[in-house]
Amino acid sequence: MRFGLHLSVASGLEATLAQAKKMRLECLQIFSGTPRTWKQKPLKEQEAELFATGLAAADLRPVAVHAPYLINLASPKARLWQRSIKAMADQLRRARLLGADAVVVHPGSRQDKDLDWGLARVAEGVRRSLDLAGEGAACWLENTAGGGGQLGGGLEDLAQMLALLKGYPAGVVLDTAHAWAAGYDLSDQAAVSAYLDEVETVLGLEKVKMWHLNDSLHPKGSRRDQHTHLGKGLLGGKCFAALAGEPRLRDAGGVMETPKDTPQADPRNMAYMRRLRTLAQNRAAK
Ligand SMILES: [Zn+2]
Ligand SMILES: [Zn+2]
Repeated sequence: MRFGLHLSVASGLEATLAQAKKMRLECLQIFSGTPRTWKQKPLKEQEAELFATGLAAADLRPVAVHAPYLINLASPKARLWQRSIKAMADQLRRARLLGADAVVVHPGSRQDKDLDWGLARVAEGVRRSLDLAGEGAACWLENTAGGGGQLGGGLEDLAQMLALLKGYPAGVVLDTAHAWAAGYDLSDQAAVSAYLDEVETVLGLEKVKMWHLNDSLHPKGSRRDQHTHLGKGLLGGKCFAALAGEPRLRDAGGVMETPKDTPQADPRNMAYMRRLRTLAQNRAAK
C-alpha cells in the first residue's frame, strides 16, 4: 500500500505541498477550502497550477479533494439537493484545477425516504454535478458508518450507486473506521481477507480508488464514527498490519484521517504504517 495523509490547506497550497514532500507522502487528500461552510474562497489559478505540477513531480497518487460536509446529494429537500449539486460541481472544478484525481463525497442522508429512492437520488445528484463540471473530474463515493439514514454503510449500497452511474467517472473510497462502525469485521488478518473477498465480489477491487486508514474509538456495528490513531483503537494493530501486507492492495493508496492532536501525530502514524509494510515485505521475502 502507498501511504499518505489528509492535510489541511489552511496555510496555503504551497505550504501543503511542502509539507507533503517533507513527510515523503505517497498519496494525499485535502479540503480545497473550508469543510464546514457553503461559501468557498476562489482558488488563485496560478497557485493551483503550481500545486498541480508539484503533486505530479512528487509522485503523489492518488490525490483527492474531500467535499465539504454540508453537501447532501441524497436530500429529499429540493433546495438543499440543488445547492448540493452546485457545490459538488464547484468542488469537481476545483479538484481539476488542483490536479487532483477526484472529489470524495459521502453519499448523504435520505431521511425518511426508502433505500432505493435514496440511492437513485444520490446517483442523479452525482450525474448532474459531473455534467455541470464538465470533463476531467471524477467522483468517489465514500462508505459511511450508516447511522441516521446515511447511505453507503453497506457495500451493496455503493455497488448499486455505481451501477446507476455507469458511463460516468465514478469510484469508491473505503474507510476502515466507517466499515467497522457499519458492522464489518476488520480486526485481524482473517477478517481483513474476508472483507476484501466481499469487496471483490460485491464491488470489484478496481472500483476502490482510495482507502481511508483510521482506527476507531467505538465498537463494531456501533454506527458511531470517531477516528483515532492507528493501532490505538478497537480495530487495533492486527487490522493495519494485515492491510499493510495485503498483496491485493500493493498499489492502493491509504490516506490517514487520524487526529492531529500533537505535532508528532501525523509523522508517528505514517512511520507506524511504513514499519508494518516493511515487516510484511521482509516476511514475504523469506
Ligand atoms: Zn469522509
Ligand atoms: Zn474517511
